Amino acid sequence: MEQILPGVWLVKAENKGRFPFAHSLFLEGDPNLLIDTGAGSGLAPLSGRVELVLLSHYHRDHVMGNHLFADAAFKIHPLDAPGVQSLEGFLELSGLGRFCGADYWKLVRQSGFTATSLAGSIEDGMRFDLGTMTVQVLHTPGHTPGHCAFLIEEYETVFAADIDLTSFGPWYGNPTSDPASFLKSIQRLRSLKPALLLTSHSSPVRDGLDRCLAGYAAVIQQREEKLYQALTGGPKTLEQLIDLKLIYGRHPYPEHLFRFFEGNMIEKHLQLMLQKARICVQDSGRLYEAL
Ligand SMILES: [Zn+2]
Ligand SMILES: [Zn+2]
Repeated sequence: MEQILPGVWLVKAENKGRFPFAHSLFLEGDPNLLIDTGAGSGLAPLSGRVELVLLSHYHRDHVMGNHLFADAAFKIHPLDAPGVQSLEGFLELSGLGRFCGADYWKLVRQSGFTATSLAGSIEDGMRFDLGTMTVQVLHTPGHTPGHCAFLIEEYETVFAADIDLTSFGPWYGNPTSDPASFLKSIQRLRSLKPALLLTSHSSPVRDGLDRCLAGYAAVIQQREEKLYQALTGGPKTLEQLIDLKLIYGRHPYPEHLFRFFEGNMIEKHLQLMLQKARICVQDSGRLYEAL
């Protein structure tokens, strides 16, 4: 654990904070608060010390250690609650149920999914007084519908979870993800002008933070331009656009999963470009063409 501020500890995740791990944040107070449980072995010293757990969203890399804090009260935004309450809810929200098709029950058996019992939910603007500091919930949808960031008011510090400032850029690869909301959520964080931003998958950022957030947001538009350019070369189907790997660059093992995520992200952009009348669709909705 790395102390970031008085009473604020970043629990650094295994695998350098890359999936399937994610940094957690521990805040000492009354109650002791943990945000996310996906850090792996770094959470061991906190066993028995956590009374309240706030989950940024339902993704497995953020909730994997929930079972380690059986005595704590768990809360998450209602839109993401089904994703931790049951495997069926997780498969539905993530789209992985549809994706797996015939392998659905195989996945159910192999997933090692443990359901989390919730003690309540969190909403935008909700404040938690820990005595030592106050934590405010910021509903920041896009990555997932119920994704939340957390503002430690006294320190003007935001734990932004998967608004993660990685070089990959914003991830919206589930059918329930939404790049337009993601963009608004990034703009909201920019308008808050925090002194320090902590995320689940990168190092803390203090200097040049607004520039980092702006650059991260710009990736969404850059992807749209890449897709538009590809379509100006001739009409293409979704499968043909996925083959170009314009978002991921490569599709490592398991390739079909990365194709699924790439396809979901491309579909979001196609929808946005259709709304803006930058492209049209032909051949009974199969072929996309630049206008
Ligand atoms: Zn996530
Ligand atoms: Zn994550």
